[in-house]
Amino acid sequence: MTEVIVRYPPSPTGPLHVGTVRVMLYNYVFAKQHNGKIVMRLEDTDRERSTKESEENILSGLKNMGITWDGEVHYQSKRIPIYRKYLEQLLNEEKAYYCFCTKEELETERLRLEGVKLPPRYSGKCAKISKEEQEMRVKKGEKGVIRFRTPESEPIIFEDHIRGKVEINAKEIDDFVIAKNLDEPLYNFCVVVDDHEMNISHVIRGEDHISNTPKQILIYEAFSWKIPEFAHLPLILNEDKSKLSKRKNKVSVDDYLAEGYLKEALLNFLALLGWNTSDENEIFSLEDLIREFSLERVHKGGAVFDLAKLLHVNGVWIRKKTPEEFKNLAEQFLQDPIFVEGRKKYGEKFYETALELVHERTKKLNELPDFLRFFFVDDLKYSKELFFHEKMKVDENVAKTALEEGKKILEGISESDWNEENIKEELLVALSETSPSPIHGWKNGQLLWPLRVALSGEAFSPGTFELLAVFGKERSLGRIEYGTLVLNG
Ligand code: GLU
Repeated sequence: MTEVIVRYPPSPTGPLHVGTVRVMLYNYVFAKQHNGKIVMRLEDTDRERSTKESEENILSGLKNMGITWDGEVHYQSKRIPIYRKYLEQLLNEEKAYYCFCTKEELETERLRLEGVKLPPRYSGKCAKISKEEQEMRVKKGEKGVIRFRTPESEPIIFEDHIRGKVEINAKEIDDFVIAKNLDEPLYNFCVVVDDHEMNISHVIRGEDHISNTPKQILIYEAFSWKIPEFAHLPLILNEDKSKLSKRKNKVSVDDYLAEGYLKEALLNFLALLGWNTSDENEIFSLEDLIREFSLERVHKGGAVFDLAKLLHVNGVWIRKKTPEEFKNLAEQFLQDPIFVEGRKKYGEKFYETALELVHERTKKLNELPDFLRFFFVDDLKYSKELFFHEKMKVDENVAKTALEEGKKILEGISESDWNEENIKEELLVALSETSPSPIHGWKNGQLLWPLRVALSGEAFSPGTFELLAVFGKERSLGRIEYGTLVLNG
């Protein structure tokens, strides 16, 4: 096989888009699998829509996710003289021509075709103007766009790595515009010139470009250039199967990171949009993907952007983090004074333990403030109904007795013996049949549920023993006493 060279050709017309990352990720993995190279090329010829801000966001966003490239960043806007040279060549060889038709003329023709139910198509009117006349009119200052003279050729056929043989009737392609003028070339033209000059071996891009491919092939043929291999990735869809859109989904990578999705999880999830292995495994790092991915296994059908799956994958990646990594990741989500000050007040050890107690349960880092608030705020607000639990057989009387008896047992544990293991033992012994306490013979939940509610004021939280241990004796007893007030109030 010839050397593999792929390209990332983002248009800097908005912040880094999840769909862009998916395309680049597939390119990255494919290149790494073949010891190939990756060219970064910013397609910034649309001067009105391209911004420096988007450019920086795209480049730093990709780097941050580990989607790197080789060598310098190329800018199409700096390559205008190169495109100009090739445009002149096509004009000289009469493979392209100036079209002077006005907007109104084109519109009238479009409407006429629409009236007889035909697709829009350029009539070819200016194709008949001689080269000399064209040059003269341009010299005189007449404005014209440059059209490609589509040859009456055989069907255009190419072998797509994902879609197999694709065949397009050349008759369906009209004389399309390749440049607004010599200094304003358009997408299809620039891409072919660049892919040729940069020796791109594989063009791996979204299926939304598949209608451009035959036009691009015609341009390659006009120059007698080698045509790269193509792979068109399935579209990404909203859950209602429409094409992924801002209106129905967040599409910017930054928005996902800001919500507390990890970059590893986002990459993992994006890799699964249109690809899977032959086994059940769904969790892949970038290195795993380089080992396992295959372009041939990419699906043809559209891939639904399934947020529930993203959340699941994110939870898996969060659980893989060490306590220290998790703490670092959590930092930016815990900037509220409740946490910043609480951390100072109760100490780093307390902060770290609290974090670890919710680590396992965290699916998205922005859940953390809700999970952790009760650790740091002492005046809990909850209603007494939270104590009652039909399944666990906790009614008002049981809850009151549980808090009373629980408090007594806990008061009996000295500060120095206050740890999870001792606490557990003392509480469970009191429940055992043989002990003479008023709660003996109760189910564990009848004692532990009311205690847990008093400690957290929440319907969901880490377990009673863990909470007692982390809060320490004084704060635990204070919360239990307050629980009794809630029950009596
Ligand atoms: N700049 C184009 C885009 O962002 C690239 C298309 C291509 O891969 O040829 O969609």
